[in-house]
Amino acid sequence: MQSELTIAEENKELRQRVSILHHKAERNEQLLRAFFAAELDLLSCVTLAELLDYLLNHFRQSFGLSAVTLMLLDPEDMVQELLDGSARFNHFPGLQLIRQQQPLRDLYPDKTLFCGEATAHILATCFRGADDVQSCALLPLIREDCLIGSLCLGSSDPGRYNHLLRYDYVSHLASVVAVCMENAISHETLQRLSSIDPLTRALNRRAFSQQLLREIKRSNRTGEPLGCILLDIDHFKPVNDTHGHLSGDKVLRDMSQLLKEKLRETDSIARYGGEEFAILLPGCSESEATQVAENLREAISQTTFSGHQNQALQITASLGLTICEQQHTLATDVSNLTESLIQTADQALYFSKHNGRNRVSFKPCLLEIRVQQ
Ligand code: GH3
Ligand code: MG
Ligand code: MG
Repeated sequence: MQSELTIAEENKELRQRVSILHHKAERNEQLLRAFFAAELDLLSCVTLAELLDYLLNHFRQSFGLSAVTLMLLDPEDMVQELLDGSARFNHFPGLQLIRQQQPLRDLYPDKTLFCGEATAHILATCFRGADDVQSCALLPLIREDCLIGSLCLGSSDPGRYNHLLRYDYVSHLASVVAVCMENAISHETLQRLSSIDPLTRALNRRAFSQQLLREIKRSNRTGEPLGCILLDIDHFKPVNDTHGHLSGDKVLRDMSQLLKEKLRETDSIARYGGEEFAILLPGCSESEATQVAENLREAISQTTFSGHQNQALQITASLGLTICEQQHTLATDVSNLTESLIQTADQALYFSKHNGRNRVSFKPCLLEIRVQQ
């Protein structure tokens, strides 16, 4: 009787253990699937913003975490620059860019994953503002044996991450994140180098041509007009001759900044030549674009620019404006139209120069209309 009871109890206990193991195996499989899916998602992120959005926003939701933050080593402000200029930075409150490697070395003395209690030091370093983090996994991001960042996963469950369990998936994920991060940064840096003028940080001429093609096609689709301005700084050579090339460079940089501040985010600004800028104003009719050009001219003439030794410089600019309308986009092919627009804006600019400078001139785009077959 005694032994029958024991066997029955043992059976029950064994069944319970099998059930727990089964449950654990199922959970592991689920987790593994979620990690595989995350890995594929990470690999399919093309831009840095996509990758950051995935890590900092989606990751938190899909793994049920209470906080995800990312610390990235950015010694030369390259990432900062890639994310600057747009409102994108505000989308990533969990992103912390650091110039020195020391905080990463302090966090990962052996360059290995940390899983465990979220201590006061960890909370202050990795999860500022997230007070419900109880346990955490801190993933070192390593490339070529060098710490480049830290992905910090925080959970409100004190038992979710502890030093007794192995977290092979998480370690693997850290390697994937590090590769993806490096790829996205290199990819965007290359793109930026090939499309941005290094002195003024405006688009370069090549990128402007591509942007003009895109805007013409958009104007064709939407029926909205497109304003096109060429702006040339007046008497710029004497600025260089009198105050030196460095002062000239500074004026070009400040001019670009002024244009950016005065224009909308959807407008495009390019350095078209030495002291010449090209501007696209999508959706602007002749009267609206004339007003924008006039505002720019006035703002420039009322600004006191400064040379590289802070000398005060009064600068003016001449502007030439034309408008591309849907009828133009329907009448000819795109390459023909880009050429005509630039030529027309250039003629309008020439007119401004010859009529005393510091003025805006408009010239309609008169296409030689060639009906498409
Ligand atoms: P205008 O009113 O007729 O436009 O006179 P301008 O002196 O502005 O025109 P000009 O074409 O005679 O001279 C343009 C000057 O722009 C000459 C050149 O040294 C200067 N320039 C072009 N690119 C740069 C640059 O990258 N940096 C500096 N500092 N100067 C530049
Ligand atoms: Mg010029
Ligand atoms: Mg000039």
